[in-house]
Amino acid sequence: MARYTGPVCRLCRAEQKKLMLKGDRCKSDKCPVNKKRPAPGKDPKARAGKRSDYGVQLREKQKLKRIYGMQEKQFSLFFERALRMPGITGENLFILLERRLDNVVYRLRFATSRSQARQIVLHGHVVVNGKRVNIPSYLVRPEDVIEIKEPSKNMVIIKEALKEFGKSGVMPWLQLDPDGMKGTFLASPRRSDITDLADIKEQMIVELYSK
Ligand code: SF4
Repeated sequence: MARYTGPVCRLCRAEQKKLMLKGDRCKSDKCPVNKKRPAPGKDPKARAGKRSDYGVQLREKQKLKRIYGMQEKQFSLFFERALRMPGITGENLFILLERRLDNVVYRLRFATSRSQARQIVLHGHVVVNGKRVNIPSYLVRPEDVIEIKEPSKNMVIIKEALKEFGKSGVMPWLQLDPDGMKGTFLASPRRSDITDLADIKEQMIVELYSK
């Protein structure tokens, strides 16, 4: 599937939000959002002032899509699936996004960004319940055990990511054994558990797709 290959910091500048797409750099002073560099193109304030309801909803969708590193087609398929699930569509969408294997690998601190996690999965370094899975969009289920494959446990990027990011712990719906480089997806999160994305207004995304 086609991927966005342009400069990722530009995406954050466009949203005027840290989308955390570059691992270590996102937490450093080098982040252009920290430096308050303006959005590419026109003055963001002027642009925001003119934004229609549709424009605001579109930006919200773009933000979430970019955070999880997805293309439009796949994102809209996730939305359709969320729509068919019982419960609140916006919350279902978050649950599905959080269940993606590349996201779980990132959340378990085996990678410093979701794009790095995606590469780790694609290159076959991850096993789920003992079986190799190299599909980033694979949906993890409660109680699944996600582990770095034995020979890949020596990979420097994974060790470094765990060392740097492992200190901050994992989200409450995950359990991590850092020495064994393995983690468990305990249960699907509730929307309120996803605190780092609390500012995303998923209802706007639902409204956008309902047009
Ligand atoms: Fe770049 Fe990360 Fe900052 Fe986004 S959050 S602008 S990806 S350094």
